Amino acid sequence: MLGATFAAFSAIVAVGLGLPESARPGADMRESASRRLAVDARTSRGFAARDRRADDEKTRSRRTAPPLRRRYARVIWRDSQAVGRPSAGALLRGTKLPAEGRHFFGWDPEQRRSPSPVWRRYATDRLIRVVLRVADEFARANPVAPRLAVGDLSRPRGGHFGARYSSRPLHASHQNGLDVDIYYPRRDRREKAPRAVGDIDVGLSQDLVDRFVRAGAQYVFVGPNTPLTGPRGIVQSVPRHDNHLHVRLAPGRP
Ligand SMILES: [Zn+2]
Repeated sequence: MLGATFAAFSAIVAVGLGLPESARPGADMRESASRRLAVDARTSRGFAARDRRADDEKTRSRRTAPPLRRRYARVIWRDSQAVGRPSAGALLRGTKLPAEGRHFFGWDPEQRRSPSPVWRRYATDRLIRVVLRVADEFARANPVAPRLAVGDLSRPRGGHFGARYSSRPLHASHQNGLDVDIYYPRRDRREKAPRAVGDIDVGLSQDLVDRFVRAGAQYVFVGPNTPLTGPRGIVQSVPRHDNHLHVRLAPGRP
């Protein structure tokens, strides 16, 4: 009873907050940093001071990086539960991925644009955590890489995830909050989904595959026309994955 009340309460809070979907975490920090730079530029010692301060800030952020939960305070974490199978299932107390963050943005594959509609962005809290963590680590390891393009997760309560804007089949799975599509980073660094294998940065894409494998994915599906590889049984070549990889988590793990 108490659980149900709490779930209802969190749902109300989620709606009531009217979270600014487009606000990026860190925007304030960036703004005040750029103000400081403008002041520095007016002094002859500006550049040296700026370099010193950048080094200090890097060291400080390494030492005091807040836990994931605080950095992504806009995520309303819920004790989500995957029900049934990815191809015939449902999602209880789904957790919503924000429209974008410092290291990722949502991508709508049907309308080929960002942001992705809210209803395409629900998953188990466990999968959201994996996506945010991998996006974070990927950005740190590849500072010149574009942000991760995160495609479809599951619907708010899971279930069949068909195409909304056409009659063609979209997803056979993505039904219980354990599946996510991630678009391969583009060679031209643009923040949009690649259309063909020739658009993708193979090195960055392989790095992503490796990171999701290390994060404990049960499967990572990649396109048959890409050279992407990984441990047999986990990384599998599946048709229609030449512009994105599909990560599935195993059910029932903490
Ligand atoms: Zn998929």
